[in-house]
Parts: sequence; structure tokens; C-alpha cells
Amino acid sequence: MSVALAPSVSFLREVQGASGQPISLCYQCKKCSSGCPLGFAMDLLPHEVIRLIQLGAKEEVFKANSLWVCTCCKTCQARCPNEIDAGQVMDTLREMALRAGSGAPAPAPASPPAIAALSREVAAPKGPDTHVKAFHESFLYTLRLFGRSYELGMIALYVGKTRALVEHVGLGLNMVKKGKLKYIPERVRRIGEIRKIFAKAREKH
Ligand code: SF4
Ligand code: SF4
Repeated sequence: MSVALAPSVSFLREVQGASGQPISLCYQCKKCSSGCPLGFAMDLLPHEVIRLIQLGAKEEVFKANSLWVCTCCKTCQARCPNEIDAGQVMDTLREMALRAGSGAPAPAPASPPAIAALSREVAAPKGPDTHVKAFHESFLYTLRLFGRSYELGMIALYVGKTRALVEHVGLGLNMVKKGKLKYIPERVRRIGEIRKIFAKAREKH
């Protein structure tokens, strides 16, 4: 990849502050990337995302499909000698990219077919009304409401926001048949604690 960079420490400071991760400590050992189970589907590996943040390449980072592929599984954090949680960094970047109106990128051309199809599904058009933004918001909404994910509610919200009913109805019916969707949401007992976390995150942003 050849990119003309305009180094900016302010981007590094901003991401470090919002994610709480000591990104400047990264010395590119690549342990995060070699252990990332989804690295094969990313256009930028975790260590590359971290390096571009250090270099202030904001636009390049926001365009990366890696932000939307990362599942925050924490494998990278467990392997990092500096305890940098690249998944947390990706999550922070997702929020920042959405606020900056970058939306979700098109899938990387090198993605294997299954991942490319999934990426197309959740990351189709750019702009404020992207499917991925709707998915992200629906997930966070149910999490704030019940303290844990509630798939059926999340699907209803997502469909309401995107009108993507017809293309997903087959998948939804299959999940119901297999008992993967619970009709009644479960709540965690200390829901107040979860809401405090959301309130704190809102203050930070
Ligand atoms: S494992 Fe940690 S120090 Fe090594 S490249 Fe990844 S983020 Fe940087
Ligand atoms: S948290 Fe994200 S970047 Fe880290 S190993 Fe998991 S998928 Fe890869």
C-alpha cells in the first residue's frame, strides 16, 4: 500500500484518549496480527492499523474494512507484550468513523467469498444511513436496554431502520426454526451499572 501521509499527533492523542489504550507503546512486533482469527478478511492487519494511528493517517484508518470485521475477541490484547487492546481501538475507531460520516467501507477485493458476501450485506452504501451504522446502533440500543444482546429486538430495529426485510426474511425464519432467537429478552440484574457505562462513554465522546 502506498499512501501519502500527513503525520498528526493529535489523531494519536485522540484515539489513545478515547480508547484508553497506550498506542504509542506499540513497537510493531506483529503478535496481535499473527493471532487475529479474522486477519485473513482484513485489508489492514491490527498492527498496521495501530501504526497508521501512530503516523496520524486518519483517512486511511477510517477507510479500512478491518474496523468492521473485528469482533473484539481480545486475542490481540492477550498476545500483546504492551497490553494494547487492538479490538478496543477498532471499536473506538468505528464510533469515530461513524461520527465523522465515513460510514462503512466497501469489502476488500481480496476477501474470501463468504466474508465478502457478509461484508456486502452489512457494509453496502456509504453515508449516514449505512446498514452497518443501523446494525451497530440497534445492537447498542438493545444492550443499553437489557444489559445483554437481544437478537430479535435488534433485528426488528435494524429492519425498521434499513427496510431490509425481504432480503433477510429467509435467514430470520431459519434462525427461528433452529431456536436461535429468543422471543423474550433477558435482562441482567444490575442494569444500572451497564447504563452508567453507556453514560460515561457518551460523556467521553
Ligand atoms: S502485539 Fe502489541 S506491540 Fe506488538 S504489534 Fe501488536 S499492538 Fe504493537
Ligand atoms: S479483537 Fe479484533 S483485532 Fe483483536 S484479535 Fe480479535 S478480531 Fe483481531
